Amino acid sequence: MSKSESTWRPDGANGPLLSLYTTFRIGGPCRGLTTCETRAELRRAVEALGEVGEEFVLLGGGSNLLVSDAGVNQQVIRYFSEKPQIARQGNELVVQAATRLDDLASYAVQEGLDGLLCCTGIPGTVGGAIVGNAGAFGEQIGDRVLSVIAMDHHANEREIPGDELAFGYRQSRLQNTDSIVVSVRLRLRLGDRDRLRTRRQEILALRAAKHPDWQHTPTAGSFFKNIEPTSKAERRQAAGWFLEQAGAKALRVGKARPFEKHANIIVAERGCRAVDVLELSRQMAALVKEKFGIELHREVRLLGSWPAGVA
Ligand SMILES: Cc1cc2nc3c(=O)[nH]c(=O)nc-3n(C[C@H](O)[C@H](O)[C@H](O)COP(=O)(O)OP(=O)(O)OC[C@H]3O[C@@H](n4cnc5c(N)ncnc54)[C@H](O)[C@@H]3O)c2cc1C
Repeated sequence: MSKSESTWRPDGANGPLLSLYTTFRIGGPCRGLTTCETRAELRRAVEALGEVGEEFVLLGGGSNLLVSDAGVNQQVIRYFSEKPQIARQGNELVVQAATRLDDLASYAVQEGLDGLLCCTGIPGTVGGAIVGNAGAFGEQIGDRVLSVIAMDHHANEREIPGDELAFGYRQSRLQNTDSIVVSVRLRLRLGDRDRLRTRRQEILALRAAKHPDWQHTPTAGSFFKNIEPTSKAERRQAAGWFLEQAGAKALRVGKARPFEKHANIIVAERGCRAVDVLELSRQMAALVKEKFGIELHREVRLLGSWPAGVA
């Protein structure tokens, strides 16, 4: 059942705090937040906000977002479910976008289907992953997408073929549009279940060794995108390497700091503000620009209203 929250807060802000719904644990209030777990709940929430003329922004797992301290002067629909909603049809899977990405990756392994190991252990929902073409090890979810059902803010749905979504490195045509990813059809290939299971465990161990545990350490993963090659002969270069070489790990702003094992990951200690994270990221990027002449681009997306000149 969908769940709405719009309680009055003693600090004067009359909406739920988005810090409760982002892996950075940062973010001010919004006008109201409705969590939808299913396609039907999503449709009802979109229609209900349409009827009262309220605009909204969409949230999945909140794992790729930095929400401002002032929050969002809009309603928020959170399309997120702890219950996986996945159907197998031969080598194809149809998954509701509220499903957690790692639940999907794990399901594929259990079914002996190969093609989603790159999504192993990545937080957030399938919807968020499709929009930002999430992945790792040079592979991404977009490589497997046959089609997507997308809904606009008037609750109209349409099916979009995967090859019209212009998937690129951490990007797709769905970014900066009002399209809500409702569900996704993916084509996988038969694999060896034992080999897939072993590889999944290896990837989880690798991630545990390299990344902070986001359930306990507030972060949104890699803050900057890796550096695009200038020719087809080159590979994408890790932003973390440049940040490390430039000495970014020594930087601190308020309660924001780079993760000790990975210079491209910012972690937020208790009491950290969004503006601290943003200022730290500005200083990190400036170091790389000064030392290497390379411009870093944010992978983490900003949401909300920011003080003038900050974002
Ligand atoms: C510890 C850690 C490790 C990470 N490792 C990786 C990694 O290896 N590879 C990688 O690619 N990413 C990684 N990430 C980043 C993040 O997990 C992914 O980008 C993830 O796919 C974001 O999904 P989300 O549901 O949390 O999206 P959110 O953060 O909630 O939203 C991100 C954007 O997507 C939009 N959105 C969300 N759901 C939908 C929907 N259903 N329809 C339309 N728009 C939607 C939002 O409006 C927003 O603009 C990591 C993050 C953390 C914290």
